[in-house]
Amino acid sequence: MKKRLFNKKNGATAITGYEDHLIVNGLFAVLVVIVLLIRQNGHCLEVFLGMTYSTLLCSPDIDSSRARVYRNWWIFRIVWRPYTLMFKHQGNDWNFVFNTKRGIGHNLFLGTLFRIMYGSLLFLIVGCIFPKMMVWITDHYMAILYIILGIWLADGCHVLVDGLVHRN
Ligand SMILES: [Zn+2]
Repeated sequence: MKKRLFNKKNGATAITGYEDHLIVNGLFAVLVVIVLLIRQNGHCLEVFLGMTYSTLLCSPDIDSSRARVYRNWWIFRIVWRPYTLMFKHQGNDWNFVFNTKRGIGHNLFLGTLFRIMYGSLLFLIVGCIFPKMMVWITDHYMAILYIILGIWLADGCHVLVDGLVHRN
């Protein structure tokens, strides 16, 4: 699996490993959902949504314009372009737990925090156009917190896999 970090595809070097993250995060999400259901936690759906959002659209790899999660935004990927310019994918031990040779976006706490802050800014801009959306968010702040928990869990799983499998 280590060899899959970079892969020549259609003449261009594409970042791979997306499928690995999809499988591991998917299994982890199922495990989390089972635990929450056993504990009769009423916010199971929100945690699952957060994990799905992170895995498919906003994983730590969104700091690279070549990453699949970045391309998953389709034409809306443009909103993440400034983020890719601000945060470099390759870095030097910003992880502190694993040396994944990734930038600060792969830090277990700061990476998720920066993406949530960036995403919140985008929501704020959209919220100016649709004020009712902002009212809904303030009315459902607990759900938002559980979505953020799901994002953090999925990000943590991603960083763990990067540290254990994709280390080179
Ligand atoms: Zn990564």
